[in-house]
Amino acid sequence: MAEITYQPLRIFNTLTRNKDLFEPLAAPYVGMYVCGPTVYNNVHLGNIRTFLSFDILFRYLTHIGYKVRYVRNITDVGHLVGDGDEGEDKIGKMAKLQKLEPMEIVQRYTNDFHDVSATFNLLPPSIEPTATGHLIEQIEAVQALINKGLAYESNGSVYFDINKYQAAGNDYGKLSGRIIEDLLNETRELDGQAEKLNPLDFALWKKASPEHIMQWDSPWGMGFPGWHLECTCMSAKYLGKQFDIHGGGMDLKFPHHECEIAQGKALTDTEPVRYWMHTNMLTVNGQKMSKSLNNSFLPAELFSGDHELLEQAYSPMTVRFFMLQSQYRSTLDFSNDALKAAQKGYKRLANAIRNIKRMSFSEDTEAQADEKKIADIKKSIEGFYAAMNDDLNTAVAFANLFNMVKYVNMLNLGQLSTAALGEEVFNELKSKFISFFEDVLGLKEELTEGSAVLDGMLNLYREYKQTRNYEKVDEIRSYFKKQGLAIHDTKIRIDWAYEE
Ligand code: AMP
Ligand code: ZN
Repeated sequence: MAEITYQPLRIFNTLTRNKDLFEPLAAPYVGMYVCGPTVYNNVHLGNIRTFLSFDILFRYLTHIGYKVRYVRNITDVGHLVGDGDEGEDKIGKMAKLQKLEPMEIVQRYTNDFHDVSATFNLLPPSIEPTATGHLIEQIEAVQALINKGLAYESNGSVYFDINKYQAAGNDYGKLSGRIIEDLLNETRELDGQAEKLNPLDFALWKKASPEHIMQWDSPWGMGFPGWHLECTCMSAKYLGKQFDIHGGGMDLKFPHHECEIAQGKALTDTEPVRYWMHTNMLTVNGQKMSKSLNNSFLPAELFSGDHELLEQAYSPMTVRFFMLQSQYRSTLDFSNDALKAAQKGYKRLANAIRNIKRMSFSEDTEAQADEKKIADIKKSIEGFYAAMNDDLNTAVAFANLFNMVKYVNMLNLGQLSTAALGEEVFNELKSKFISFFEDVLGLKEELTEGSAVLDGMLNLYREYKQTRNYEKVDEIRSYFKKQGLAIHDTKIRIDWAYEE
């Protein structure tokens, strides 16, 4: 088989608004930071779409040979209701509601996030730091910004000084494309604005009122860190003052990521991030899926089908496949029809993976090489890489994978012999198909019973068939059917398959 040619990876950089060639600072090492969840309630499917997109990035970078340090934080303090500088802490509020310790809330929903992540086969990050575990670093950063004259204390809170930052030649708003004057016009007079020199100044440290549960001592009195500061401090601590990739959902571009850039640049005089990546939203009837709009599903509701918007239950891998069928920068609208189609598509792939794993090359000196099919297989493998290298276009990557399925099925049905492909091409098809499916796309087979049990049942089926015990034969068929499987009883063999 001729050498496969790899195009270099390009990723869409929100900062340059361009698909930039990906060149890590210190290859083969890649530093990647993704804003993690605020753990005050169960993650919904929209959150999962964002974390899945970065799971694909992590997996793909690893697949093509990079050694990735993937840092994804847990926000357990500082994220206020309304996402601004005023109001209750989201976690503190939930703790009061549920009459629990804030750290019980944090633990409960961190556990949920981990469970759900494992269900969807999301790989854990290399480091998962928490905001409360990095208060010292945050207090030090606030002090350093005051010392540099880029932050000021006001009534026990400390704010970032946008005017000074701009005067030093910076461009607050460059990531999200916001213009300072427009932002000022949009800013309404909110509580606490009086403490600020400029309404756009954002909190680095907030004075805590006595009823605020989560508070710590600091040089400015009792308080808590501003939401944006944790990501600046933890990314710098584990990845350095400048690192390769920073990701999050599109809704975090402003103010969260804009403020992260300002803090990082102000602290170190260095642009903190080289490639900013933002995922698009999962929508329901065109509206962003969100807890507050009451249109969100919990993963558990999806798996049981128990929700008024759901026509049936869907499995984790069906949902994973559904999400990956669109590229991460396009919106993805949830619909039962799309999920049902995804269920079919995923099962087609699952059958192919099961079948190819059981195949091996068999020599046949008489066989003619099928050059057309060989060339098409090579084109599909190249096409898969080209799609992934084009800003992780999983939609096009799947089209190439399905072209490979065509050949796996021909081999399985005996319509094509492994010898007609030759040992090298057959082995390449097998190993790439498995690694695209499992390692890059993170899909896996879903069986409620172990395959040894299923094989045992299939043996019983064969016996009952031989003894013409058709009642038992039907019983075994329905046993398989209940698990979404079907017995394929053909001239060449009796086997089970995922029911497509
Ligand atoms: P949060 O816990 O609210 O900070 O959100 C965690 C992550 O999920 C953030 O990166 C959000 O941008 C992302 N997110 C929230 N809603 C959606 C949605 N409907 N679709 C995709 N990503 C979302
Ligand atoms: Zn963040």
